[in-house]
Amino acid sequence: MRDFSYTRATTIEDARQAALQAGSAILAGGTTLLDLAKCGVNEPDELIDISHIRGLDGISVGESEASIGALAKMSAVADHPLILKVYPAVAQSLSLAASQQLRNMATIGGNLLQRTRCPYFRDPATFSACNKREPGSGCSALGGVTRNHAVLGTSESCIATYPGDLAVALVAFDAVVDLGSRSVPVEEFFLEPGDRPERETVIAPGEVIIGISIPASAAARNSTYLKVRDRQSYEFAAASVAVGLELEADGRIVKDVRIALGGVATKPWRARAVEQALVGKALTEEVILSAARLSMEGAVAHGGNHYKIELAPRVVARALRTLGGLA
Ligand SMILES: Cc1cc2nc3c(=O)[nH]c(=O)nc-3n(C[C@H](O)[C@H](O)[C@H](O)COP(=O)(O)OP(=O)(O)OC[C@H]3O[C@@H](n4cnc5c(N)ncnc54)[C@H](O)[C@@H]3O)c2cc1C
Ligand code: SF4
Repeated sequence: MRDFSYTRATTIEDARQAALQAGSAILAGGTTLLDLAKCGVNEPDELIDISHIRGLDGISVGESEASIGALAKMSAVADHPLILKVYPAVAQSLSLAASQQLRNMATIGGNLLQRTRCPYFRDPATFSACNKREPGSGCSALGGVTRNHAVLGTSESCIATYPGDLAVALVAFDAVVDLGSRSVPVEEFFLEPGDRPERETVIAPGEVIIGISIPASAAARNSTYLKVRDRQSYEFAAASVAVGLELEADGRIVKDVRIALGGVATKPWRARAVEQALVGKALTEEVILSAARLSMEGAVAHGGNHYKIELAPRVVARALRTLGGLA
């Protein structure tokens, strides 16, 4: 790991100014950044520690929305009684992520900005070709081991999966990222790789995540996050889904449904085709199965990740059955 200098920011404005300097990087919990520095993917000259800025770790849940500060810890949000009650999928997406020790250290802002776990991306000493690290250098994953790579939103330049869980739930419930001078829906915050995989989000140099807000909805209140992975803890998703469901007063017809996928796409993936196929229909096994299949519309397998195209609709269907009382 290269030597770096350390600056402790005490205000957001200080942090923004310092982060404008080339070679600088914001440090929150450090659980992603220090890993990337150690493996040589991100070797900043200067770390701007924002973890001591006051007032950025609040969690408030009101009638119309919840606001969560960028420095709120993953564990604090996962265990917050009102987040558990009003946004259960959000709480579950966090408690099923990483480990308790990491969740105690890691922040919400840092969680959104975590980088892909593509092994070729994280091993520059062995694999020089990675368009995300070195634009134009190629992609070592194409033709390589792709079991954990994406099947949706990929391009010829990059097939890396977005690894986070929280952002999946946030996309399902139309959450917004507060960048101070502007607010961006979480769905638009993340970018598909296209021919510029090095650009992962719309965040610009000098911008700092201040927090997120999540609109309240009946679907968010009746929601779940289902994560399927190679082992039951301390593992990234092979396929995951955040589902929120509101039924009409008859308890049968779907009034509102929100579905977003994780572990299968290059960004947190809203499954609008599945939503549209469900609204206005009675929630039967047949309706669930045919709608869930639409979650993989446009999916492309690259060798070892073909199983995700079978797996993801099953995960969607299981979550729908659970929420609809058909499990
Ligand atoms: C072993 C392991 C397993 C994991 N498993 C999972 C998992 O299953 N699911 C999951 O979702 N995550 C998982 N994670 C990722 C973990 O959730 C992230 O490491 C953590 O959330 C990052 O938060 P942090 O505060 O430590 O960020 P940092 O490491 O401090 O920062 C991460 C990035 O965000 C930038 N940044 C941080 N805060 C801000 C801000 N406010 N504004 C602008 N830029 C900012 C930093 O510059 C850096 O680029 C795992 C991590 C590890 C190490
Ligand atoms: S999939 Fe993306 S991150 Fe992985 S090696 Fe290819 S370009 Fe790099």
